[in-house]
Amino acid sequence: MNAIIPIKPTGGCSDAPVLRERGQREVFCGLTGIIWLHRKIQDAFFLVVGSRTCAHLIQSAAGVMIFAEPRFATAIIDERDLAGLADAHAELDRVVKRLLERRPDIKMLFLVGSCPSEVIKLDLSRAAERLSKEFLPNVRILNYSGSGIETTFTQGEDACLASLVPQLPASQSNAVPSLMVVGTLPDVVEDQFARRFKEMGIENLSFFPPRNSQSLPPVGPNTKYLLAQPFLGDTSRALEERGATLLSAPFPFGVEGTTAWMQTAANAFGISQEKFDQVTMPARERATRALEKHKEKLEGKKIFFFPDSQLEIPLARFLARELGMQLTEVGTPYLHRQHLAYELALLPEHTQLSEGQDVDKQLDRCRAAQPDIVVCGLGLANPLESEGFTTKWAIELVFSPVHGYEQSADLAELFTRPIVRRMKIQREAVCS
Ligand code: SF4
Repeated sequence: MNAIIPIKPTGGCSDAPVLRERGQREVFCGLTGIIWLHRKIQDAFFLVVGSRTCAHLIQSAAGVMIFAEPRFATAIIDERDLAGLADAHAELDRVVKRLLERRPDIKMLFLVGSCPSEVIKLDLSRAAERLSKEFLPNVRILNYSGSGIETTFTQGEDACLASLVPQLPASQSNAVPSLMVVGTLPDVVEDQFARRFKEMGIENLSFFPPRNSQSLPPVGPNTKYLLAQPFLGDTSRALEERGATLLSAPFPFGVEGTTAWMQTAANAFGISQEKFDQVTMPARERATRALEKHKEKLEGKKIFFFPDSQLEIPLARFLARELGMQLTEVGTPYLHRQHLAYELALLPEHTQLSEGQDVDKQLDRCRAAQPDIVVCGLGLANPLESEGFTTKWAIELVFSPVHGYEQSADLAELFTRPIVRRMKIQREAVCS
């Protein structure tokens, strides 16, 4: 059985030097977040104001939806808009009106900025304000940027949620303390966490974003919140401005991370250790057993993380501590020291950390390290595979249910599978 992580943000890599690089980067843009956000908030629509490239990215990343009307689209900025020959605001108003007339099921509309809309300085906040006046109370219209200028793909969710925080109703000043879990989780994972928190006795519980835009959770000084994702810096700041208090914790990946994360909430809400253990122990034991077979395959294997999803540091902690993997380099697009304080403290000492990217230099370091598996973006995966490296797409880690006890083995499997496949290919090559 894994011991509970001592909740202490010092030691490990807390003060480790970080290699900071600002060169060419290979990352997706924030529009990608629409893919999981539109599945979560089921009456929201995401209208990207962008180019054909943006439309193509969203279409190919989200796949073709054949069972339902899509809840994302792109209002294409064409050459006339770029040349300033057309009134982009008037055209956008026309597109929004047509969309909302045709789709009365939409209750929240996000106007999502892109590189082209930022280049022509299209003020989407003004557009959202103007259109809201016309469509409220039926449809709430908000805006955020998903552009690829200086962002990585998970920042799209952060920008979206930060734009939603001012819309949350204020909680009553005499309301009982509430726990808010912040960050998009698949419904099945959300249900597991909700059941356990309720079994512990934390009844006043909400998830943000909610499944429906009509049920925005209240926020105020009696709200304590746990981040479920490490990339929500702006959202966190916006919640603090509304009076909420962050419960700092490791992130709920793996048995140890999930236990420490839930324990932090339990402590903040005065839940006894006995009750906490009674609620979590069966799942902890099951998850620990399920990890054993993965540990046999992953222990001692070397892993290299290119910066992409911002999940790199919590995942590296899980893979090193619970599966015995060796961390060669852990790259992250941005290092948010406050949110990652507990994670850094739990990383093995002397782990090579890097922030930002200079892709050619990093590729050279990766080749020199000769890792057994590389976690990277899609753009780097094929070239690295052709050089004989085993890769895992970072974006898959964001799309898959990976949080919590029940998903710990599935998370490990995402690393085991490509390593085992590569070993089989190598064996077959030797035999033939
Ligand atoms: S927002 Fe920018 S980076 Fe993203 S698809 Fe559009 S043009 Fe490309």
